[in-house]
Amino acid sequence: MRTRVTELLGIEHPIVQGGMQWVGTAEMASAVSNAGGLGIITGLTQPSPKDLANEITRCRGMTDRPFGVNLTILPTIKPVPYEDYAKTIVDSGIKIVETAGRNPEPFLPLFKKADVKVIHKCTSIRHSLKAERIGCDMVSVDGFECAGHPGEDDVTNLILLPLAARRLKIPFLASGGLGDGKGLAAALAMGADGINMGTRFMVTKEAPIHEKVKQRMVEASELDTSLIYRTLSNTARVFKNSIAEQVVNIESGPGQTKFEDIQPLVQGAKGRELFDTGDLDTGIWSAGMIVGLIDDIPSCKELVSRIVYEAEEIINERLSKVVAS
Ligand code: NAD
Repeated sequence: MRTRVTELLGIEHPIVQGGMQWVGTAEMASAVSNAGGLGIITGLTQPSPKDLANEITRCRGMTDRPFGVNLTILPTIKPVPYEDYAKTIVDSGIKIVETAGRNPEPFLPLFKKADVKVIHKCTSIRHSLKAERIGCDMVSVDGFECAGHPGEDDVTNLILLPLAARRLKIPFLASGGLGDGKGLAAALAMGADGINMGTRFMVTKEAPIHEKVKQRMVEASELDTSLIYRTLSNTARVFKNSIAEQVVNIESGPGQTKFEDIQPLVQGAKGRELFDTGDLDTGIWSAGMIVGLIDDIPSCKELVSRIVYEAEEIINERLSKVVAS
């Protein structure tokens, strides 16, 4: 498949692995890049900019194909030296950055000067248009189905993607609810130039998380996610476990929830522990509605090949026959 995404990013297949806290390590990113997609190291998973530089070097030792780095700018418990992370990305020679969370405008002069391609993750058309206006090279349009932060508009990709196709000039990825060839074919049909997947890549052999977490996601249905932080305007879609249910209960109580009321339950360090130990009720973890469509744990290569094969077959066989009849 050749699209504006494969051309712009220099990759074989129009499939990108989005940033994932605690999951986007060199192992994950290199496996996706070696499979012909674009792997992405999650910047903030590394405790310091220096560790990020080391992780980038490690990833270079594992793949000679392009990979990128994610920089997510959202509320955090401890302040993050974003400028230092951004400078490290540039100094390490990275040429593709995925930004998410907030307007990336303050970082664009630095990235553009270093000829870095910026993919900004957007949960609305107005944010996508803004990203285009300020000079981002591509957007990743994140529908309500997605894991992590879907924004506050609750619009699904069936609406967002055709709107993006109507209004944007720059290429865009479909993100949220994608994990198989049907999704890829549908995203292309709606005008996207490729897909971005997070949750689906968590359930692969190479994802650096405990087998029990992967297995739980295989067993899960499309109803197994919860929306938390709704009352804080920082909505996140996470896997529905007992911790997520406690957070939802606290938030549905009387009065305005303060972040301090839920902080011990949701802190990222607990999520990391959960991924390491496989104890599924230690903390929260991001997961999208696509868990309902995940039923195995393939390698990244098997997964990417299968998705592309299935999408090609749908386009060449099923859809062309629909037109012919
Ligand atoms: P953390 O331990 O600092 O915070 C835990 C969670 O609480 C995060 O989801 C964070 O957004 C939220 N949070 C922190 N302070 C808040 C506040 N004052 N009000 C409302 N919510 C607050 O975060 P972490 O788990 O170490 O993750 C680091 C960064 O990566 C965070 O910005 C997080 O949101 C982001 N992240 C993004 C995704 C995604 O889907 N894009 C997924 C996981 C984490």
